[in-house]
Amino acid sequence: MTATIFALSSAPGRAGVAVIRVSGDRARDAVEALTGRAPPAPRQAVLAGLRDGAGTLIDHGLCLWFGAPASFTGEDVCEFQIHGGRAVIAALLGALGQIEGLRPARPGEFTRRAVEHGKFDLTAAEALGDLVAAETEQQRLLALRQQEGALGELYERWRRQLIRALAWAEAVIDFGEEEVPESVWTKVTRDARVLANEMQQHLNDGQRGELIRDGLTIAVVGPPNAGKSSLVNILARRDVAIVAPTAGTTRDLIEVRLDLSGYAVTLVDTAGLREAGEEIEAEGIRRSLARARSADLRLLLLDASAPQTSDLVPLEVRSTADIVVWNKVDRARVPDAGGLAISARTGEGVPDIIEALAERVRERLESPSEAPVLTRARHRKAVEEAVTALKRALLVPEGAPELMAEDLRLAGRALGQITGAVDVEELLDVIFKDFCIGK
Ligand code: GDP
Repeated sequence: MTATIFALSSAPGRAGVAVIRVSGDRARDAVEALTGRAPPAPRQAVLAGLRDGAGTLIDHGLCLWFGAPASFTGEDVCEFQIHGGRAVIAALLGALGQIEGLRPARPGEFTRRAVEHGKFDLTAAEALGDLVAAETEQQRLLALRQQEGALGELYERWRRQLIRALAWAEAVIDFGEEEVPESVWTKVTRDARVLANEMQQHLNDGQRGELIRDGLTIAVVGPPNAGKSSLVNILARRDVAIVAPTAGTTRDLIEVRLDLSGYAVTLVDTAGLREAGEEIEAEGIRRSLARARSADLRLLLLDASAPQTSDLVPLEVRSTADIVVWNKVDRARVPDAGGLAISARTGEGVPDIIEALAERVRERLESPSEAPVLTRARHRKAVEEAVTALKRALLVPEGAPELMAEDLRLAGRALGQITGAVDVEELLDVIFKDFCIGK
């Protein structure tokens, strides 16, 4: 018998209401132990006094019952909605821990059980994690779409097509080429080619899904003293900043997360270690360059009051800038070369750069089609594996259907790992370890 698990499913800390969830065969025992009665009718909230094993009242709260299999996990589930104070939560969790056969849930364990009971596939489970983590509108929409099954259905459709092609290839093996019409082989190779192309297109998506999910990086590059740190600072203080700086030490902040048009963006100040000695300076420049290269977009910030310093920026960086901004326009005019004009000191022009950045981000991430996009490296790797196997299958000479079948099988297996349709026990630990407890 698998253990019955329980956890606080709402965020820890002080809140109006806290939700504690119990899942497993002994969920019924939990309800009876705490409320003194049998579970209420499914999906109907009842108010009950909740008592610990000694009969001491813990709180008054709502009790909800979801009988297996019509529950989130597919098991018997009960939920207690109690007052969200730390002591109330601790007392209720303590009381649950005293009931035989119950233990605290591990991170992601509720969702894992839902997958194991066939409630949804792995891509939907991952999307649930993404939905909980979503900070921006586009991250939310992406996660929601995946949770509804868009991605899982695509991979499953491909896998079914592969299985069909495999069945035909196996017919050729079983009956021999003489027995099977010539057209069968043609059909198998045609299907494999169409699928390989479709998958390749899915891979060539400019990593849109991954960038929406993980956030896109914009490097602020420019000569020393152009005002890069000032700009990043001023943006961090605007409404658009959704998260506190990640790497602020005693010096200026160097990274800030922004919500631009609903897309998550990390703005990186590449100023580096500029005011230290010469050797460190060189190291700082090397790092800034590397940062600029690896960023998804580059904002080149120049000093209008010292335009000659622009030459200090390596040509490589100047020529790949996605957006050029002249700073310190409170002190000097923008040189004829043009670009946007701001003053990080007065805030003048800052809304214009936010809009310009948002525009670049939209250009990069807005989807030209309705097709579901790849959202994580795990999926990308598996689809790549499938394409490689298919391409190999297409090179197989007509007389070797066994080789063809083997590659089709490998391609199907790779796709099956994404959705969990094939045995993925070893993958589950990796996937659910990033979940929070109670999910
Ligand atoms: P960084 O080296 O590019 O990160 O530049 P900083 O942000 O450290 O700024 C360098 C100097 O320029 C500081 O003394 C800032 O106060 C000043 N500064 C930054 N932005 C402006 C601006 O818009 N106008 C004026 N007048 N000074 C600025």
